[in-house]
Amino acid sequence: MNSTIRIAIQKSGRLSEDSLNLIKECGIQFNNGTGKLKSESSNFPAEFLFLRDDDIPGYVADGVADVGIIGENVLVETGKAVELVHRLGFSKCRLSIAVERAKDYKGVTDLQGISIATSYPRILTQFLEENGVRADIHEISGSVEIAPSIGLASAVCDIVSSGSTLMSNGLKEVEVIFRSEAVLIAHRQLSADRRKTLDQLLFRIKSVQAARNNKYILLNAPKEAVPAIIQVLPGMKSPTVVPLAESGWCSIHSVINENDFWAIIDNLRAAGAQGILVVPIEKMIL
Ligand code: ATP
Ligand code: ZN
Repeated sequence: MNSTIRIAIQKSGRLSEDSLNLIKECGIQFNNGTGKLKSESSNFPAEFLFLRDDDIPGYVADGVADVGIIGENVLVETGKAVELVHRLGFSKCRLSIAVERAKDYKGVTDLQGISIATSYPRILTQFLEENGVRADIHEISGSVEIAPSIGLASAVCDIVSSGSTLMSNGLKEVEVIFRSEAVLIAHRQLSADRRKTLDQLLFRIKSVQAARNNKYILLNAPKEAVPAIIQVLPGMKSPTVVPLAESGWCSIHSVINENDFWAIIDNLRAAGAQGILVVPIEKMIL
């Protein structure tokens, strides 16, 4: 039983849905009824704790939880000593400084001596120190963006994703000070048994991520076009080429990266590929 790992995930918020989806895609089943604080998996040695995100780094640092999924912004701000195991690629956002739109802003030195409202005093302090700027930090826990309009501060430092909240509060983003995404963290001194379970989880996560980033591609081509098509297809090892019933024709199968997708498709067509099919991959074992 002591190979069972306790995984802390956000109870409800911007990390929750993607965290739960990732766990599900890893084939780990558990009952996630509303209001539940704890749940045990029926098919993997894991137990889940549903917590407020701010508490997750502390729980993992203390060993109350072995593993957690948390925004890197919160991890760094809390300054808790945990192992950053893996980047998960979701809940991407940035921590930025914004000032009133009408204000002329030329660079960080314009922050000298002003007051900045934030829920991220630690990350902000570090940014200001690195830039040799002294400012007055007002720590507040929420609704940071209204601080300038109520006269609490002349600038804010807050999480931005689209920038629409800043805009509707008459602010403009002037400095990006931190880029964040969800990360998998672990207690620094996991027992060997639990480390093994974490490694199994990590292996599954990487397979899910690889599958998401790749597509399986099938196409037909006349034999003489095959060398040119193979040049275009990077493939995991090399593409599979099988003859078709119609003489002089082949079918080619391979895996392509999502990011290269459109460029590759155009090149394939130019090289003579026909009947191109592209299908999602469910798992990809590297
Ligand atoms: P809790 O109630 O658990 O304390 P919270 O209100 O502090 O939740 P959320 O707003 O759910 O936190 O955000 C959780 C994390 O999601 C943030 O710390 C950040 O890493 C990320 N995040 C925040 N805003 C966005 C956004 N607009 N898009 C994507 N990710 C975001
Ligand atoms: Zn929170």
